[in-house]
Amino acid sequence: MPKAEANVIEYKKKSLWERVYLFEIARGLSITISHLFKNLAALRHGKVGETYQYPEIPKPIDRVWKGEHRLMHRTDGTPRCVACNCCATACPADCIHITAADTGNDGVEKYPIGFDIDILQCVFCGMCVEACPCDAIRMDTGKFPEADYMGPKRILDIDYLMNNHPDGVSKISEAIY
Ligand code: SF4
Ligand code: SF4
Repeated sequence: MPKAEANVIEYKKKSLWERVYLFEIARGLSITISHLFKNLAALRHGKVGETYQYPEIPKPIDRVWKGEHRLMHRTDGTPRCVACNCCATACPADCIHITAADTGNDGVEKYPIGFDIDILQCVFCGMCVEACPCDAIRMDTGKFPEADYMGPKRILDIDYLMNNHPDGVSKISEAIY
């Protein structure tokens, strides 16, 4: 069997300027000071500088970022969820708990009467969204649990999840099954 070749990583040697550090310190300070002057100039013109004034002005979050969950609606307003438990089974944090009830018809046999997510245990991996065969759960709200002295709301229940649809996101799933 041929001997595997070692992957040798050559570290770049530091130049004299880098080893002295003074030039690097001056370079770092020049970047900081340039941002200070840029922000002062922006404030003089009545604009907010590059710093987000959190929590008054939260930083915009990309829609593909995994945020708080929401349950999708059918066109009649009922949950798309069929209480199959796939999401709860896929969840590595075991933080989804579903209580199913019989719909009484053959088309869709079950629906959830309870759907709890323990958001403090959730690791925001998105496995529940991936596992769902009905596109009934999404994590595109752009929201995240807010820090609080009393801690965030621990359990996201079915009422919260069914109504967790911030402006601009559709309640009704576009996917047809
Ligand atoms: S995002 Fe991951 S950890 Fe959170 S509920 Fe979904 S599967 Fe569980
Ligand atoms: S959200 Fe999707 S995966 Fe989870 S129980 Fe409902 S239908 Fe099944």
